[in-house]
Amino acid sequence: MALDSKIPEGPLEDKWTKHKNSINLVNPANKRHIDVIIVGTGLAGGSAAATPAELGYNVKAFCFQDSPRRAHSIAAQGGINAAKNYQGDGDSTYRLFYDTVKGGDYRSREANVHRLAEVSTNIIDQCVAQGVPPARDYGGLLDNRSFGGVLVSRTFYAKGQTGQQLLLGAYSAMNRQIGRGKIKMYNRHEMLDVVIVGGKARGIITRNLVTGEIERHSGHAVVLGTGGYGNVFYLSTNAMGSNVTAAWKAHKRGAYFANPCYTQIHPTCIPVSGDHQSKLTLMSESLRNDGRIWVPKKLEDAKAIQNRELKPTDLPEDQRDYFLERRYPAFGNLVPRDVASRAAKERCDEGFGVNKTGEAVFLDFASAIIRYGKEQAHVKGLNEEDDSLIQTLGKKVVKSKYGNLFQMYEKIVDENPYETPMMIYPAVHYTMGGVWVDYNLQTTIPGLYAIGEANFSDHGANRLGASALMQGLADGYFVLPYTIGNYLSDDIRTGPIPTDTVEFEEAEAKVTSEINHFINNKGTKPVDYFHKRLGKIMWNKCGMARNEKELKEAIKEISALREEFYKEVLVPGTADEFNEELAKAGRVADFLELGELFAKDALVREESAGGHFREEYQTPDGEAQRRKEFQFVSAWEYKGEPKDAELHKEALVYENIEVKERSYK
Ligand SMILES: Cc1cc2nc3c(=O)[nH]c(=O)nc-3n(C[C@H](O)[C@H](O)[C@H](O)COP(=O)(O)OP(=O)(O)OC[C@H]3O[C@@H](n4cnc5c(N)ncnc54)[C@H](O)[C@@H]3O)c2cc1C
Repeated sequence: MALDSKIPEGPLEDKWTKHKNSINLVNPANKRHIDVIIVGTGLAGGSAAATPAELGYNVKAFCFQDSPRRAHSIAAQGGINAAKNYQGDGDSTYRLFYDTVKGGDYRSREANVHRLAEVSTNIIDQCVAQGVPPARDYGGLLDNRSFGGVLVSRTFYAKGQTGQQLLLGAYSAMNRQIGRGKIKMYNRHEMLDVVIVGGKARGIITRNLVTGEIERHSGHAVVLGTGGYGNVFYLSTNAMGSNVTAAWKAHKRGAYFANPCYTQIHPTCIPVSGDHQSKLTLMSESLRNDGRIWVPKKLEDAKAIQNRELKPTDLPEDQRDYFLERRYPAFGNLVPRDVASRAAKERCDEGFGVNKTGEAVFLDFASAIIRYGKEQAHVKGLNEEDDSLIQTLGKKVVKSKYGNLFQMYEKIVDENPYETPMMIYPAVHYTMGGVWVDYNLQTTIPGLYAIGEANFSDHGANRLGASALMQGLADGYFVLPYTIGNYLSDDIRTGPIPTDTVEFEEAEAKVTSEINHFINNKGTKPVDYFHKRLGKIMWNKCGMARNEKELKEAIKEISALREEFYKEVLVPGTADEFNEELAKAGRVADFLELGELFAKDALVREESAGGHFREEYQTPDGEAQRRKEFQFVSAWEYKGEPKDAELHKEALVYENIEVKERSYK
């Protein structure tokens, strides 16, 4: 099938407005006869459930947690971008658009990104109106901070808990509709297949995770807001439950999967401490506003620090290598995440790492504490030469900005980051790839939509910080409610979709058969055994740096591991009870297929761009080398096995932005 991204004609800045003015509407009386299924109630799904319900559609919403409040979105710490220009520092819709396209290494669609920048300002207004409490400055106005890859301050935040506050806003908007009977909420329900009737998505099959019951649900359209697939790496900063199953099942029913190899590796995470771990912890990017990243200049000092014979605080300034400031003077510690991650890896690969595994760099707040302390002493007319006073005042400021993050670090690492620099290392954090969608957020299956991290849409090869929340809420509050109406306007006479049809029967039988396989397999090894092994292959061969040889090995190894998994996996318990191992088995089965497609996608893409760094394609000074021939979205069609997947290319056209070498120097 040829890809049609359905980008409206006309000048970039008019496309969305004209599109909204020209698409079909459904009148309020007809909306009452239309059912919309929303799978996922994180920020994307939650907002996408609340708004259509407010408009009058009947919404059925699903999540696998016990409450929408526990979606992974709640973990988002640092902030959300919007081109409000409250700081008067030169921000504009165009600049947000420009930064995002450049940040994504010129691998995203201009029209989508411009729309995102346009609606970004509405999101902040919407959330504040809901009662979300973003940080405010001394005068009571909304405050901003900076994130990587930009030269303005456009990130709105609520301490280090932005996702939580935004999710509470979306959740309360949903709750209002649950109270009105316009949203029927299905907690602890996992979607295990999408049902296609007459070529259109008309329902889903779910498993009630508490009772094990398999259920059929129908609707006139299905929306996936099911999050990202970073947990294919086993270790990531994602919530333990985050998975690819909904997106993958849709892929197997005909939805193309785009750019699976684009993964964001976040530079600011607590380093891996050993094999026992099942989760990694992010230290928010906001910390790079004030923290300075360094390693020792000399190898012998690095060794001494690794062996705990030397304290980092005892190493003089002139013996420290602030490598981001050195390599990228214009952006310094606030270069984009892919650039910062690779630079940290490069130093650690050269032996300059600072923890016992040699895979950590310092994030140091000592200068910020002194800077803020002096400022406070000056403001208060106190003695600016009193070191102890400066320290007290400076730490107070740092605590007010990042207190909960510092506390979290201390709890995990058992070191006080006010006294000694934090240790950080890159970790898998976000997936830019996902279900392919057109401008209307519709997948290649009519009536099936994908929003938020589940789709591939706006970030290209790298996501700038604070732009995922923006995209998820833009999709849910401001884009999907319009575009889905256009599609549903054809359904005003369809009537309820029956579930006693052969299509629902076939999908249910398929789900049941997979569940029975796992329960009856009686293998010898638990699900996590396979997931960990998959994660190791992914990290070692498809991680921060990739090359042809290792990607080919990864493809073979993942395929063999999948075979072994189906033979050897042990799932205890039964299918008709709360059985977390069973749920995990299904998710890991899908990761084992996605992992192979991921490696295949990375192999085909013979260039380096954003989160995809092919060692064969780099400049002499180690920067990513993009290639014009690869200026496309890869959209994979399912053909039975990941190895048989067929590649379709969506060419990316840049008419409003000049594609330049991506420099942050
Ligand atoms: C630690 C951390 C910090 C972050 N900080 C920031 C930040 O400061 N700013 C920023 O912009 N971004 C940040 N991000 C990224 C951002 O949080 C996510 O990209 C975003 O929240 C994803 O939202 P979502 O609604 O698409 O998915 P999620 O919040 O992951 O929600 C997925 C939903 O889908 C449901 N679901 C999934 N599969 C199924 C299924 N098969 N059946 C039924 N339900 C299903 C889940 O139950 C859940 O409700 C951060 C990410 C991490 C990991």
